[in-house]
Amino acid sequence: MNILFMGPPGAGKGTQAERIVAEFGIPHISTGDAFRKAMNEGTPIGLKAKQYIDQGLLVPDDVTVGIVRERLAQPDCEAGFLLDGFPRTLAQADALDGILTELGRKLDHVINLSVDRDLLLARLTGRRICKSCGATYHVIFNPPTQAGVCDKCQGELYQRSDDTEEKVGTRLDEYINKTAPLLEYYGNKGLLRQVDGEKEIDTVASEIVSLLRG
Ligand SMILES: [Zn+2]
Repeated sequence: MNILFMGPPGAGKGTQAERIVAEFGIPHISTGDAFRKAMNEGTPIGLKAKQYIDQGLLVPDDVTVGIVRERLAQPDCEAGFLLDGFPRTLAQADALDGILTELGRKLDHVINLSVDRDLLLARLTGRRICKSCGATYHVIFNPPTQAGVCDKCQGELYQRSDDTEEKVGTRLDEYINKTAPLLEYYGNKGLLRQVDGEKEIDTVASEIVSLLRG
């Protein structure tokens, strides 16, 4: 089962990805984790990526593609994978097709978690994080017992500067503009499965599982 997972920030992608990989026993490949793994293991492409990151430079596409290629070729991906955070552009989607062809694989499903922009705004701007332990809360959906205080360690909760309405709005618009062509690309290939990400977490999870089993 080779799955590509898409959805805007705040759609609950991380939570759903955890459920799916547990259900199907496949690894969750996020680009962030793939980068960390390659850099920790000191693979040639990992070292190359590290040079850019250490200098605070944007990692070029061919390096990102190389990281994904290396990760998908590892033995734990043989039974399948859930890829998340890549591709972000049509050029990367083409590169992914190339990687999978090299590996004698193909995507089985592209799952897109769709959530209305206003709800995403509410979800993302309400996020609060504990300064001490990093636990996350939400002022509406998952409030701490006492406002502004962590239930786990009594630490102080704060809002990331990225989570203000203006920043979130910009981030969402960027995501929507960037990924619209990708959704069309996978739609044309007949791979795209739209899932309503506004429902309860459990409902969304079981809808995804039945889609994948169907
Ligand atoms: Zn805490």
